[in-house]
Amino acid sequence: MAMNRRDTFKLAGVAAVAATLPTMAGASEAKSTAKKATGKSIVVIGGGFGGLTIAKALRKKDASLEVTVIEKSNMFMACPFSNTLLGGLDGVNLDTFVGDYYQPAAKHGYSFVHATVTAIDRKAKTVTTTDGDFAYDILVLSPGIAYDYENQFPEWSQDKIREIAQACPAALMPGNEHVALKRQLDNMDDGNVIIVPPPSGKFRCPPAPYERTSMVANYIKNEGIKGKVIVLDTRPGKFAKAKAFKESWTEIFPDIIDYRGESTVTDVDVAKKTITYTDADGDSHTEAYEVCNLIPLNKCSPVITMAGIETNGAGFALMDGYSFKSKTDSNIYVVGDAVTHAIPPSGQTAIWAAHRAAGQIIAQLGGKVDDPKKGLPAKAANVCFSMVGGKPEEAIMVTHTFSADPSGVLKGKGNVPKPKDGNGKYRSKGTAKATREWFNGVMREMFT
Ligand SMILES: Cc1cc2nc3c(=O)[nH]c(=O)nc-3n(C[C@H](O)[C@H](O)[C@H](O)COP(=O)(O)OP(=O)(O)OC[C@H]3O[C@@H](n4cnc5c(N)ncnc54)[C@H](O)[C@@H]3O)c2cc1C
Repeated sequence: MAMNRRDTFKLAGVAAVAATLPTMAGASEAKSTAKKATGKSIVVIGGGFGGLTIAKALRKKDASLEVTVIEKSNMFMACPFSNTLLGGLDGVNLDTFVGDYYQPAAKHGYSFVHATVTAIDRKAKTVTTTDGDFAYDILVLSPGIAYDYENQFPEWSQDKIREIAQACPAALMPGNEHVALKRQLDNMDDGNVIIVPPPSGKFRCPPAPYERTSMVANYIKNEGIKGKVIVLDTRPGKFAKAKAFKESWTEIFPDIIDYRGESTVTDVDVAKKTITYTDADGDSHTEAYEVCNLIPLNKCSPVITMAGIETNGAGFALMDGYSFKSKTDSNIYVVGDAVTHAIPPSGQTAIWAAHRAAGQIIAQLGGKVDDPKKGLPAKAANVCFSMVGGKPEEAIMVTHTFSADPSGVLKGKGNVPKPKDGNGKYRSKGTAKATREWFNGVMREMFT
């Protein structure tokens, strides 16, 4: 194989991209002391899409509010658009995705605490963290998701789960997993990349595994790697934006993408680099891989359970009607992926929810009720783009309108449009441009 850009990466390794990271302070220098809530104290757990948006929105609406964001990571990294890093798109590097928590906190006057939440006492209205206790009048939970390897592979030991999680990084949560997957692609020789979407249930960003399929295929094509992207999916070909993805796969990467529906993964041998799965007829197959991206079942972050509020079977918070208030406790709000509203778990939805929840909280603190049906149905409340090609850059999109469903929850109805500049196709260059603009916009929403 000819010396190419991947070989350069092999030598430079992740150090090259790591050099672009901003320097982050360690755990917060000053220990926080638990002080009494003032009647206007709002504690936000999770400095991700939902948490950072609501902290800023609350302070912008009412500068007398005392808002504290508690976040366990010491560096923000965005998941949306991150598949383009794997795809090697122009101008995209790790720096594209990182954010500095301190800057928006200072600008909008909320406190940022770098600590992990370990307990919530709803009676005392306090949150316990690795850096002290915090009292609240209103608590906002936006802790995101967790992986559920245990339910999907009950026969795997904890050691085996750890080994496979590291060897076949899921990269559905921000941070090291994305770097690990990128490094594996940079280092791979000829051979196959296997992508395994979560087998069932609600999972973070339903189009993400399929966008990743396109972007890894783009990488394989541009780098001249002799290999395929094999998707082992339990679904029989029905997934988010399926028609639009399949159109682009057939037309852009016909010899690279190999989608195998009704495939259930049963085992991974990390030493041999093989994955075993059963097909629709129950026959077992073993496939060799160079890189494997195994995304397990999702469950809700355990922070929701810590709060002791009512949840569904997978730990997601039950909601009070169409609002973003917990069904159990009127002083607890939940936004982002952790809610049970029938709306897709996405960054855009988390931002939309955070703005609505901010209005509802401010009304509550003022002794009023913000009508949870206000502004519904909300047209294009969720817009989700997926990059499907790199040369030229092309993307597809889905929009969702959110409505008050008679069943009592917010419900999203999706539409995958064909763009005007698409010449009858689902994908277009204009949509790719909109994808980059959308991503820059959400980063501005949280960090400026
Ligand atoms: C590959 C990929 C592509 C995606 N593409 C898109 C897209 O194109 N468009 C889109 O809209 N969305 C996209 N998403 C989805 C989007 O990233 C999530 O839906 C969004 O981040 C959810 O926001 P959140 O606030 O619920 O969770 P997060 O943003 O994950 O934030 C949760 C935060 O809580 C913190 N936390 C958790 N537990 C604790 C604790 N005990 N103590 C302190 N802090 C804690 C976590 O560290 C984290 O920072 C994509 C996701 C992935 C993985």
